[in-house]
Amino acid sequence: MTDLRQTPQQSEAFTGGIHARIDGPVVMIGFGSIGRGLLPLLLRHIAFDPAQLTVIDPDGSGRELAESFGVRFLAQALKPDNFRAVLEPLLDTPQGRGFCINVSVDVSSVEVMRLCQTLEALYIDSSVEPWAGYFHDKNIDIAARTNYALREMMLAEGRARNRGGATAVSSCGANPGMVSWLVKEALLNLARDLGLRHSDDAAPQTRRGWAQLMQQAGVKGIHIAERDTQRSLRPKPMNVFVNTWSVEGMVAEGLAAAELGWGTHERWLPPHARRHKTGCLAAIYMMQSGGDTRVRSWCPTPGPQRAFLVPHHESVAIADYYTIGAPDRPEYRPTVHYAYRPSNVALLSLDEMFERGGKLPKKQQVLGEEDILDGMDELGVLLYGHAKNAYWYGSQLSIEQARILAPHQNATGLQVTSGMLAGIVWALENPDAGVVEADDMDFARCLDVQRPYLGKVAGYYTDWHPLKNRGSLVAENLDRDDPWQFRNVLVRTPS
Ligand code: NAD
Repeated sequence: MTDLRQTPQQSEAFTGGIHARIDGPVVMIGFGSIGRGLLPLLLRHIAFDPAQLTVIDPDGSGRELAESFGVRFLAQALKPDNFRAVLEPLLDTPQGRGFCINVSVDVSSVEVMRLCQTLEALYIDSSVEPWAGYFHDKNIDIAARTNYALREMMLAEGRARNRGGATAVSSCGANPGMVSWLVKEALLNLARDLGLRHSDDAAPQTRRGWAQLMQQAGVKGIHIAERDTQRSLRPKPMNVFVNTWSVEGMVAEGLAAAELGWGTHERWLPPHARRHKTGCLAAIYMMQSGGDTRVRSWCPTPGPQRAFLVPHHESVAIADYYTIGAPDRPEYRPTVHYAYRPSNVALLSLDEMFERGGKLPKKQQVLGEEDILDGMDELGVLLYGHAKNAYWYGSQLSIEQARILAPHQNATGLQVTSGMLAGIVWALENPDAGVVEADDMDFARCLDVQRPYLGKVAGYYTDWHPLKNRGSLVAENLDRDDPWQFRNVLVRTPS
């Protein structure tokens, strides 16, 4: 196989070439694992002058790499009291409309999004981030620290603009992001296989049309079902947190309350679950950390797996998107949650962190592609509870494929950066769409841009359900009438 790492121009031919152009300045906030992987994809697929791009990150370790691409590097932490002064002169130039790409942690997405709106600059992020300290501030109510609450703040920003203005794409990477597009493609496949539609029928054009098709297909719920089998070249030493993407991001999610979109078919509410009082009302949270909450799920390679119910934006956004009826008395809504089985080293790292009362060890490592022996990231959506039981549809991207396709990232990173690339192209093609999430965008166009980077994209039906493969010593309190009740999915102490 040809190694194209040194020759991105050659890979252009089979990864789609130039999709769009930016005439104005580009600012990339954050240059961690995602920023480093995204920059070469931008240079490959978006026509712009690299000298017009500024990378901002307080960690200077990425300077050499950034400058090797001909872009500027500014070693600076953005904070509530300086972000306007730093960003305004960079984004507000006579050359043309600016584009701000936020791939940092600890920088408020909503505040930067708002500034971009006033400057008429386009904006994208892959997660709704608050300012530093917010997630871990015990003085702030747990409900206010959920993805639900952060998403409501982002939606309020959109409402304040009256749904117009410069496009700001929120939470668009792999998940959140790509998985919303995969849900739509999976639903069309499922509806075809159930005889509800023909392959050449037009896809629904409205949110209500999509929700009606989901209801008609009998989907009770959706797992964002991921298995990361990438293995580190070196065994993980004790007290080093190792992950295949942001350690800080993983820790924030792992410690935060487990959250899930709450479907209309559910008959049992976990005793430690809480409901929100305002907003879309599509989700609940539990008084227990997501990184310490296990669920039963399924991915094609391992088959059944125990995964973590890590709180994620898309669990709320997808459940909200497919709701029919009033938010407080919905006629239909699918249960939606993440079921993430991270890499073996990340699993060990999480365990060690919880053993230490949630304290993060000083030593941390994000595995670069050069640190990985083999494996893949299998990331898809499992639509369950319908007449064909369950259908997983997603991306199976190996580390070997990722190495050939793009530099400076592993398989996990490439699924995220290619999702961001698709979001950036869509924003450039739809520059006045206001605040949008992945569910609001053209899924077919976005997947067209992203697909060359996803390895094998395939669908699998399975007869597995959460009442199968149970080997409990003692009788469990299950709902045997409906295998797909959350009561059966959640791994809990038998009562
Ligand atoms: P990372 O930890 O590797 O990098 C984050 C970078 O932000 C670091 O280089 C850090 O120095 C920088 N940073 C920290 N404070 C800053 C500040 N005040 N100002 C400017 N920069 C600052 O994280 P990553 O893996 O690159 O992830 C980046 C973002 O993408 C995170 O928000 C993460 O949650 C999100 N993410 C989304 C997806 C998805 O699929 N949607 C997947 C992975 C990561």
